[in-house]
Formats: sequence, C-alpha cells, structure tokens
Amino acid sequence: MKEFRKKYDVLVAGGGVAGVAAALSSSRAGMKTVLVEKNIQLGGLATSGNVFGYLPLCDGQGRQVIFGIAEELLHASIKYGPGDIPGDWENPESVSRYSVCFSPAAFVLALDELVMNAKVDVWLDTVICQPTMNKDRITGLEVENKSGRGIIEAKCIIDATGDADVSFRTGVPCEERDNFPVIWAFQISLEAARAAVHENNAGKLLDLVWQGGSDIGEGLPPGLRKYLGTNGKDVSEFVLVSRKLLRDYFVREQAMMGKSGRDNLFPVALPSMADFRTTRRIHGLKTLGSSDFFKNFDDSVGLVADWRGPGGSRKNVWEVPFGTLVPQKIHGLLVAGRCISATGAAWEDMRVIPAAALTGEVAGIAAALAVSNNTTPEDIQVKDIRKEMDRRNILYSLDGLHGNV
Ligand SMILES: Cc1cc2nc3c(=O)[nH]c(=O)nc-3n(C[C@H](O)[C@H](O)[C@H](O)COP(=O)(O)OP(=O)(O)OC[C@H]3O[C@@H](n4cnc5c(N)ncnc54)[C@H](O)[C@@H]3O)c2cc1C
Repeated sequence: MKEFRKKYDVLVAGGGVAGVAAALSSSRAGMKTVLVEKNIQLGGLATSGNVFGYLPLCDGQGRQVIFGIAEELLHASIKYGPGDIPGDWENPESVSRYSVCFSPAAFVLALDELVMNAKVDVWLDTVICQPTMNKDRITGLEVENKSGRGIIEAKCIIDATGDADVSFRTGVPCEERDNFPVIWAFQISLEAARAAVHENNAGKLLDLVWQGGSDIGEGLPPGLRKYLGTNGKDVSEFVLVSRKLLRDYFVREQAMMGKSGRDNLFPVALPSMADFRTTRRIHGLKTLGSSDFFKNFDDSVGLVADWRGPGGSRKNVWEVPFGTLVPQKIHGLLVAGRCISATGAAWEDMRVIPAAALTGEVAGIAAALAVSNNTTPEDIQVKDIRKEMDRRNILYSLDGLHGNV
C-alpha cells in the first residue's frame, strides 16, 4: 500500500538547470506541473556541484544564439550575487562572450523565486525510485520522501536527472561513460580578501579551487582511475578520492604559509553533489554527433554555440534536433539536459548550463503540446513547437543567424 498518490499534467524529474527550465516552460504553458528533486536546493551541478560559470549564449562573434529561459536563468544567476555580463561581448573582435560567473547560493535563491512565481509544485528532498508503466508507456514515478513512499502520476514525464535514470529504468537504450575524479570547491583566502578590499568588490571573495581531472583528464595525479556515475559504489569512491585530492591541496598550501596557514586559506563550500561531467545518456530518435556542426535539421528546435575558445570559426553553432530529446522505445517521455542523445563534440556542448536550459525549455513546450493534444511526444508536430518558440522569440534555425555574419 502506497502512502500517497498524486496526479499532474507534467512531471519533471530532477531539479537541475534543465529540470527548472522544463518546469517553468511547462507551467507557463498552462500545465499543472510538478518538479521533483532529491536535494533541498535547485540547480543541480550548477549550484550543488559548485559549477559557477554560466557558459556563453553567444557564438564568440557577437551573435546571440541561445534565447528564452536560458537567458532568463543567466540573469537570475547574478540577481542576488556578484557577476557582470561583459559589456563588449557583441564586438566580434573581443574575446569576451555573453557569459557570467555567479555565486551558487545566490543562484539557488533566484531559482526558488522563479519556480514559485510560475506556480510550479516543487517537491524537494524527494527521491525518484521506479517508474510505473502501462506496457511501453510511462505513467508515473514512485518517489520516496519524509511522508513515505508514493506515486506521482503524470500525462507526460520529462527526465532531467542528468543521468537518464528515469529513461534507463523504463528500458530506454542508453550509453554510459566514466570520469576521472574531480572536485570544484570554494575556499576563503587572505589573498582573495586583500584583492576584494583593494578593488572594493566582495565578488573577489568567490574563490574557486578545483582538483582532479579536466574533461580529458589533464591535471590528474598519476595512478587514478575513472569512475562510473551510474554505479553506487563508484560514486562514493569518486567523491572520497576527489575530496582526498582537495585535502592534499590544502595540506600543501597551508604548509607553505607556515603557522598561519590554516587561518589564511581554508575550504568553505564543498559540492553536495558528485561532480560527474557525464554518466549516462539516452539513445534518442536522433543523435547529434561531432560532424553535425553547422548542419540544418528538419526538426531543429534550438541553437547552441560551442563554448570552447572565443569563436574563430563561423561554423561553431549547432542546430539541436527534437529527436535528441525523444527516447527510443518508450512513450510519454522526454529527456532534457546533459543526458540527451548527443556524442563527442556535440555532447561537450549539449551538456553545459545554457544548452541544458534550452533543451529543458523545449521539453517543457513539447510536453505541454503532448498533453493538450492527448498524445505522446514523438507524435507532436515540430511546427507546433516552433510556433511556440517563435512566440517566445527563440531561434532554432541557422538561417536566422546568416544575416548577421
Ligand atoms: C566539474 C564540472 C565542471 C563543469 N563546468 C561547467 C562550466 O564551467 N560551465 C557550464 O556551463 N557547465 C559546466 N559543467 C556542466 C554543467 O554544470 C552540467 O552539465 C549542467 O549543469 C547539467 O544540468 P542538468 O540539469 O542537465 O543536470 P544536473 O545538474 O545533473 O541536474 C540533475 C538533477 O536531478 C537530480 N536527480 C538525479 N537523480 C534523482 C533522483 N533519483 N531523484 C530526484 N532527483 C534526482 C539531481 O539531484 C540534480 O539536481 C561542468 C560540470 C562539471 C561536473
């Protein structure tokens, strides 16, 4: 016997950037929407993982390519904390881009405000367990929280867990990838405090320290292995090994400062979510691959720019096909964020914060259309998604950029 049973139009699983964008998008489209998050703060890796850089909305040549909720969230990330959008990002000669660094805690406060204003029903501290199914259609999710274990039913479900957990458990074909240990934390240091006072800017106190590998494993002490974010034991070991790297860093740095080391430099905020870049992604009706740069798709529903480098090539923008958000085999389900169907260089760009917000917004629009038309996402018309995107002034075609080149 279940302790509770609730019904919604749209259920968004996971309250990272993608999940928040999906919930805002669906609720604003008139759907009764629930957002379920196991942590007690929204934002996922962007906040709980201390990933404090909102990567660019522009192509590095002065053209904005991502619009809509992705832009709204960028502004929200600095609403209650430090950070400025570079004034010269629109200058194609400049290396600046439409991008900011933010305080994760300030971003959490702004995300709360957005979802509350949009009347999203937010369930924090609630873990998603198993999906409920009617043959090959997902009908709801079993969840657990302080009230016990219950079922949330919905006409359409968006998997924004970052790890494709919902999709995987329904039987959607997925792919996994392992990661080198890495940790992003914040430190307090006398040096940063001096800079803050000197520049009269407390934002300088936001002092990131990262240890472990880059996405390609650079900067890693030898002998460390890769870990799977989809294996419970591996997740624990990944976190413990990463935190040991951080401990070793503070021991080294504090020792160099002598007796006052512990007073002058110390950790102040650790991630409360494992800093896995990638874990599992779905096989969608379409997969965006490395060779799809600057390619037109007949089902494109958004544009994403390459974040690496200031631009350089004018062919550094992707169209995002709707099929990358629609899983194979299972009905009633959409995917948003870092677990959509993309590989290689395409995945490198689809996994970051602005792209996660974009795919979240699209998933919210598509879910609302599926519910309104009493159908499943793969049967909705892309032209109807685009109509709503036009209404929201979001670009989805490279053709929209050509005039500016
Ligand atoms: C070390 C590192 C550095 C990075 N640097 C940058 C950067 O500088 N700039 C940038 O733009 N991007 C960066 N990224 C990538 C970016 O932060 C993430 O890929 C992006 O934020 C993903 O958003 P998401 O919403 O798809 O997933 P996530 O942020 O992973 O959100 C998923 C949410 O689902 C919740 N969830 C998962 N399972 C369950 C469950 N069973 N029940 C309930 N809730 C659940 C999680 O708690 C989480 O809140 C970095 C990532 C890492 C790891």
